[in-house]
Amino acid sequence: MKRRQFLQSTATSCTATWALGAISAFGAMDPARAQAAAGRVVVIGGGVGGATAAKYLKLFNPALQVTLIERNATYVRPYGSSEVLNGHASMASLDVSYDALRSRHGVQVLIDTVTGLDATRRHVITASGQRVPYDKLIVSPGIELMYSAYEGYSEQVARTAMPSGWIPGEQTALLARQLQGMRQGGTFVLVAPPNPYRCPPGPYERAALMTEWFRRHNPTAKVIVVDPKDSFVTDETMMLGWNRLYGFNLPDDYAKRMAPRVELQRHAGPGMLSWVRAQDGGRVLKVDAKRMRVETEAEVIQADVVNIIPPMRAGALARSLGLVDKSGWCPVDRRNFASSLVPDVYVIGDASIADAMPKSGYSANSQAKTTARAVVEQLAGRPVPEPVWENTCYALAGKDYGIFVADVFRLVEGRITRINGAARYLPLDATPTQIRLGARYQQAWLRTFTEDVFA
Ligand SMILES: Cc1cc2nc3c(=O)[nH]c(=O)nc-3n(C[C@H](O)[C@H](O)[C@H](O)COP(=O)(O)OP(=O)(O)OC[C@H]3O[C@@H](n4cnc5c(N)ncnc54)[C@H](O)[C@@H]3O)c2cc1C
Repeated sequence: MKRRQFLQSTATSCTATWALGAISAFGAMDPARAQAAAGRVVVIGGGVGGATAAKYLKLFNPALQVTLIERNATYVRPYGSSEVLNGHASMASLDVSYDALRSRHGVQVLIDTVTGLDATRRHVITASGQRVPYDKLIVSPGIELMYSAYEGYSEQVARTAMPSGWIPGEQTALLARQLQGMRQGGTFVLVAPPNPYRCPPGPYERAALMTEWFRRHNPTAKVIVVDPKDSFVTDETMMLGWNRLYGFNLPDDYAKRMAPRVELQRHAGPGMLSWVRAQDGGRVLKVDAKRMRVETEAEVIQADVVNIIPPMRAGALARSLGLVDKSGWCPVDRRNFASSLVPDVYVIGDASIADAMPKSGYSANSQAKTTARAVVEQLAGRPVPEPVWENTCYALAGKDYGIFVADVFRLVEGRITRINGAARYLPLDATPTQIRLGARYQQAWLRTFTEDVFA
């Protein structure tokens, strides 16, 4: 595929175009059939997966009674939340309302915390004492951060000294204040998480955005990414951006591998940004919040600001509902995301085990649509169509430097498998205009994606 075609196709594939395509491809039901196939569907978790599922259930069959149970009155979107750290976005701009789901789509939104499940009687139990009956239940509980994974780290430390901010909220605001107030020439350490985790390019985008910000406001600052991995998705295109923008020298093996395809700059000195991967001792052993130290396998780093993105597992709700296996995530029948552990329950989004699909908002949205369709068809007693899923993750290496990974997935021998070929990424020889366009697409995606999920 030509570069321009590829950029154009990925730019449109993630927007409302897909959503409209999905409805017309599946087809809304005529009223008589819809009524006959109606039932009660409860969705728990009003994040990306849950909100998309609730909306598309109603779009596919308006006669369904759909109740969305969410503990917070307003959703704080994680995607795009690193832009609060460099002042591109405000905390308030992350807030998303459930009003359109209620008024435009007829979803009943119940603000309450789910505490349990009676799978035999098919009731969801909430903190306020309600028992909400269902025929089918879709759960999209997101992730839980494992704060105790590193010696010296805890939720309390994250709240007060070394924030994570991977679930946006108070910690995001604290981290923004710490970074923007860091002393001149200070050191910012970002601890990247092990696989699998929410938003694979996200930690590296965050490091890039802060390096760009420091270059203007704190030009002698250092940014050190310590990593328990040796590679990450979009690593070549992201590090090419770092090389061009921040004086970053790629590790020799990357430089050698990429040299035939792109000209890399060789910088004298270490540059503002460094990446210490697993093979160079990037694994964290412990942290000391009082002395602001991070001890890795290679060294003890004295820091001024520390952002720890800890290991993750399925959201606590998934465990309390009995949806989690030994891996810490939720096993599902890949055809329709039905839980392998509890009947009539479906688990989507970050919490589910989805093989090659990354834990991203785009994936959660795509899974929600195919699962909503499967539920509608099952309630109507019809066969469920063969699912196809997509994911596109845009990321910024700088404000005007956009990169992406774009994939399509199908079932192959019962596993969710990537079926597109090698052309997944922004090409290494992309022109400056294509790179700038990538950044525009990222900003457009934030807007159109939020509309597709919540509006
Ligand atoms: C910095 C950052 C950048 C990102 N950028 C991108 C990006 O560019 N593109 C992309 O595709 N993805 C991105 N993501 C990832 C994306 O935000 C997540 O993958 C997505 O939100 C997952 O959706 P979900 O429905 O699984 O979980 P969530 O969106 O977290 O939703 C879970 C919901 O469940 C609710 N809940 C939990 N327990 C209960 C309970 N007991 N009772 C009631 N409600 C409950 C929570 O309150 C929450 O609203 C990014 C994430 C981060 C942190």
